[in-house]
Formats: sequence, C-alpha cells, structure tokens
Amino acid sequence: METLLDFEDTATAFEIRTDEELKKMEWLFEMMANPKITRILGKIGSWAVSARLPFVEKIMLKTLFYQFCGGRTLLEAQQVIEKLSTYGVKTILDYGVEGKSKEEDLNHTMNELIRAIEFAKGNPSIPFISVKLTGLIKNEILETISSQHFNIQYGEADHLPGFKNFIKRIDAICYAGQIHQVKIAIDAEESWIQNAIDQVADLMMHRYNQKEICIYNTFQLYRTDRLDFLKKSFDKSVQFNYHLGAKLVRGAYMEKERKRAIAMNYPSPIHTSKENTDRDFNAAVTFCLHHCSQMGLINASHNTESCQLQAVTMQHLNLPAHHPNLLFSQLMGMSDNLTFGLAKAGYNVSKYIVYGQVREVIPYLVRRSEENTSVTGELSRELKLIKKELKRRHHLS
Ligand SMILES: Cc1cc2nc3c(=O)[nH]c(=O)nc-3n(C[C@H](O)[C@H](O)[C@H](O)COP(=O)(O)OP(=O)(O)OC[C@H]3O[C@@H](n4cnc5c(N)ncnc54)[C@H](O)[C@@H]3O)c2cc1C
Repeated sequence: METLLDFEDTATAFEIRTDEELKKMEWLFEMMANPKITRILGKIGSWAVSARLPFVEKIMLKTLFYQFCGGRTLLEAQQVIEKLSTYGVKTILDYGVEGKSKEEDLNHTMNELIRAIEFAKGNPSIPFISVKLTGLIKNEILETISSQHFNIQYGEADHLPGFKNFIKRIDAICYAGQIHQVKIAIDAEESWIQNAIDQVADLMMHRYNQKEICIYNTFQLYRTDRLDFLKKSFDKSVQFNYHLGAKLVRGAYMEKERKRAIAMNYPSPIHTSKENTDRDFNAAVTFCLHHCSQMGLINASHNTESCQLQAVTMQHLNLPAHHPNLLFSQLMGMSDNLTFGLAKAGYNVSKYIVYGQVREVIPYLVRRSEENTSVTGELSRELKLIKKELKRRHHLS
C-alpha cells in the first residue's frame, strides 16, 4: 500500500526560517498578491533594466531579491546552498542572465557558467547547473533556425552570424560538465525559439550522454505537442544509443504565447485548459518513471498532486526514494512545503537557485511576482502556508 506524503506540515516546511523571516515573507506575498502592484513592477522592472537605476536595484534587494535569489555572486549563494544541504536539499545553480546579444556578453555568460561548474564540482549538494541558451546566442538566430526549420546537424545553420561560436560555447559548457561530473539542465523558452533549443539539446545529449546522464532538455507540458515529443525524444535516444535527460515543467510563458498566437493569427500551441496541461504533465511523469532505468527525470513543479503522483508511483514501482536518476525541484522561495517534505521523506530534491547582479535577474523576479499574483482574489498557496505556520508558532509561544 503506497503512502501519501505530508505536504501540509508547515513546521517542517519553514523550520529553516526565523519568525522575522517568515513575517517578511508574509508581507512580500501579500504585496505580490495584488495584481496592480505586480503590473507596475513588471513595467518599472523592464524599464529599470535598460536605465540601470540604482534606487530600483535597492528596492529589489530589500524586497524580492533575497526571497527568490541566492545572491549576487556565487560566494553569496554559497551560504544558502550550505544551509539547504543541512536539510538534505540539493541545489541546481542558475546564473540568471537571459536575452543577451553582444559577443562579449555571450562569452561572459559562458565563462560564468563554466565558473559555476567549477564551483559545483566535487560538491554533491550541487549536482546540476542550469543553462538558458538565450544567454549564449542572439534570440533572432534561434528564431530563424526554428522558423526556417534549419537542421543543425546537416550544417544548415552554420552560415548564420555567430552560430558556430554559439555551438562552441555550449559545447565548452557541456564538456566542462562532463569532466567535472556536474549535470547541465537546458531551460525551455518561448515556442518560436524552442525548436532550435531542442536541436542543440539533442546534439549535446548525443555527445555527452553516452555513458552517464549529463545533459537534460526541458519539456513544457502546457504545449499540446510536448507529451508526444517527449516520447519521440526517448525513442530517438534509444535508437542512437544515448540516455535522455528530461526536466519536466508546465511552462512559464503562457500569456506571451497566447498573445502572440492571436496577434499573428496562428493556433496557440498551449493547451486550452489547466486540466489538459495537468493531465499531460502527470502522464509525462508516469512515462519517465516507467523508463527511469534508461533515462533521467527532474520533476520541476510546485504542484502538490504532481509531486504526490511521483512519490506514489515510485513506491508502486519499487523505486527507492534516492534513485540516482530521479530528482524533484522547486524554485527558491516557493513551495518549501514540498521541498522540505520530500527531503524529510528521503527523496532527491533540489532548489533552483538563481544568482546574479540585480539588474540581470529582474526579468526572472518579475516572472516570479506575476506567478504569485492573485487573479481570483484567493490567497496564494504560499501565503496560506505562511499564515498557517505563523499561527502555529503564535499558539506555541
Ligand atoms: C525547478 C524549476 C525549473 C523551471 N524551469 C523552467 C523552464 O526551463 N522553462 C519554463 O518555461 N518554465 C520553467 N519553470 C516554470 C514552470 O514552467 C511553471 O511556470 C511553474 O513551475 C508553475 O507550474 P507548476 O508545475 O509549479 O504548477 P501549477 O502551479 O499547478 O501550474 C501552473 C502552470 O499551469 C499552466 N496553466 C495555468 N493555467 C492554464 C490554463 N488555463 N491552460 C493551460 N495551462 C495552464 C501554466 O504553465 C502555469 O504556469 C520551472 C519551474 C521549476 C520549479
């Protein structure tokens, strides 16, 4: 008989937080629950990135930054990583830069990512770093490859400006990952650049996943075609003798995807309902668990049912909680009830820890605040749990 995990245990979820920290979290999540504030933040945030305004940076540092980010540098992030590891929680390190275009910036991102790999090497509490390909090449090139259906392996993209350097950059990162035994998770981004990202991820998996599972691609199950694509990616890995690494997410760009599809008059690639996204996400988790002797899975989600489903299916399939090919992951600052609940029950679980200069991580912070906004007026999942824990502590004192 499979047992359900207790994700309502707020004492475990927030053991790491002092009363003061918890009260600050309550204030922050209450602020983010207001759609007006989030909208203003979105507007100021994007503008501040280009204008480099010091006071906006200060406000971010005092509010959202340390809730959702590990620090401005690796050294700052180290404190958070060490603290998490004492609770059995691992780290996926994420240098939070995206959307770069100048060659020197792209090279800088590559060097930072290699530094992150060197920082993580030999430290079992940092098994992964994550990579956004838009930090390593201009967006437009990825868009051209995707829209023109260029086949990277046949050299059809080699003539595009900066493309060959881009492949050298991502290859250097994956090579460093393999040498130092640090895995690489390649993030999924907007659908109009994703075909290029998938091709590069496949190329790298083919090169570096022969013996061990080092490179992971990301599958966004809010897209109607991704469950099928996941299965095809698995078949391809079997056919070409490498291991598939799959990070499963629902997807972070739903509004943007829908707006563009309407504006440009093509069918939206996103499921028409949350239920359909959930159904495909859970089917993808089940598929990966059934094939986990040959592939790696990161269940990257804050959804209680999807985490519960994985834990129960693992028990049902007699897979140990600490199975080396299976990992859960939540973003730093969110769903601590799942992260610490899973860690307490012995599962491999990690936090995605973004680090970088404040102005670089603003787009990421804006996405997080939008995710925590209440459209329905209901308290967010996080806020309910924080309030429950504050009440529990108050009754104890
Ligand atoms: C560790 C980690 C790594 C991540 N990496 C990436 C990444 O590389 N790329 C990326 O795009 N995202 C990434 N995300 C974000 C992720 O895609 C989700 O936006 C976020 O986690 C919320 O989904 P959820 O599974 O936590 O669950 P929930 O909160 O249950 O689901 C919310 C999600 O469901 C979907 N959804 C909501 N309403 C509807 C609707 N009406 N119709 C259809 N679908 C709907 C949307 O995707 C929405 O984000 C990552 C998340 C984590 C935890």
